[in-house]
Amino acid sequence: QAKAAGRGRVVRFDAEIRAEAAQRLRLDADLRRALARGELYCVYQPVFRVDDGRLNSVEALVRWRHPTDGVLPPVVFVPIAEAAGTIVQVFRVVLEQSLTEQRGWYERSGRWIPVAVNLSPRQLDATTAGLVLAALDRNGTPPDMLTLELTETGMAEPETVENALGPLRRAGVKIAVDDFGTGYSSMARVADHGWDVVKIDRAFVAGIHRDQARTSLADAMVKMAHALGMVTVAEGVDNAADLQVLSRLGCEFAQGYLLSHPVDADGVLEFASIGPRASVEVGLRAGGVQPGE
Ligand code: C2E
Ligand code: MG
Ligand code: MG
Ligand code: MG
Repeated sequence: QAKAAGRGRVVRFDAEIRAEAAQRLRLDADLRRALARGELYCVYQPVFRVDDGRLNSVEALVRWRHPTDGVLPPVVFVPIAEAAGTIVQVFRVVLEQSLTEQRGWYERSGRWIPVAVNLSPRQLDATTAGLVLAALDRNGTPPDMLTLELTETGMAEPETVENALGPLRRAGVKIAVDDFGTGYSSMARVADHGWDVVKIDRAFVAGIHRDQARTSLADAMVKMAHALGMVTVAEGVDNAADLQVLSRLGCEFAQGYLLSHPVDADGVLEFASIGPRASVEVGLRAGGVQPGE
């Protein structure tokens, strides 16, 4: 009986695995077509200064306008693109679009708005630096107006990372450690690289105002980052009380749904020209915002 049931389970798992593999293959083929047809584009998550609520920079986030399935978020296709190697083409699209739009913002507002682009750990090879430097050159972008965000898991081999990113760093491109706290890297590793920005993962930010343990962790992360000469960005700030705690801890920058959802290129320009973001001000001045308010 048990044996039969066990065998049934094996068969079902096998079928599921095969269906998943087929789905992945189909999506990868779709993705290659999508790249050729220009179905990928990026939106921008605004990053605000915690002290005065002004726009600091934006993070480019890829989207796929699928012909039948609507707009797909990166969680659906980035892992597949990483596994298949297509991520390099995805990166090219995001980099080119965001640098072009950044140039447009500069021409319309007279201001360079720093842009951050996510870099997959799979792209830490000799080709990336050349690709990025050429794109900066083509767009006339000051290199320090670009940040590459690298997740902690991308830091497995310091040599590889340094070889891939060294030429970019020397040119002035900034590097941020993304999703900090969720990976395996130690702060010592981050210190060795001498990078610029620590992005504190949403897991340590959401609900921070009613969780002393989380507050202590975020406090430690901010202090460590500052000790290493890095600045901090809190990810996933979705309520004013959390923002107040982050402000008290000395976290310089924040992004999250409280402040703004990702916007298109015109949306970025609006944030650049309207000054302090109302919800940042409300969040910092309210003095005692309670959860749910
Ligand atoms: P990430 O780099 O940590 O980006 C932040 C993600 O959190 C974005 O989701 C953003 O929309 C979302 N977010 C921002 N504020 C809030 C909030 O208050 N609450 C919640 N629940 N979420 C918030 P998105 O656009 O779905 O991106 C997810 C991940 O996909 C990114 O995480 C990044 O790891 C990856 N990704 C996005 N674009 C690219 C890309 O061009 N290349 C690569 N390699 N990965 C990308
Ligand atoms: Mg990121
Ligand atoms: Mg992140
Ligand atoms: Mg994250």
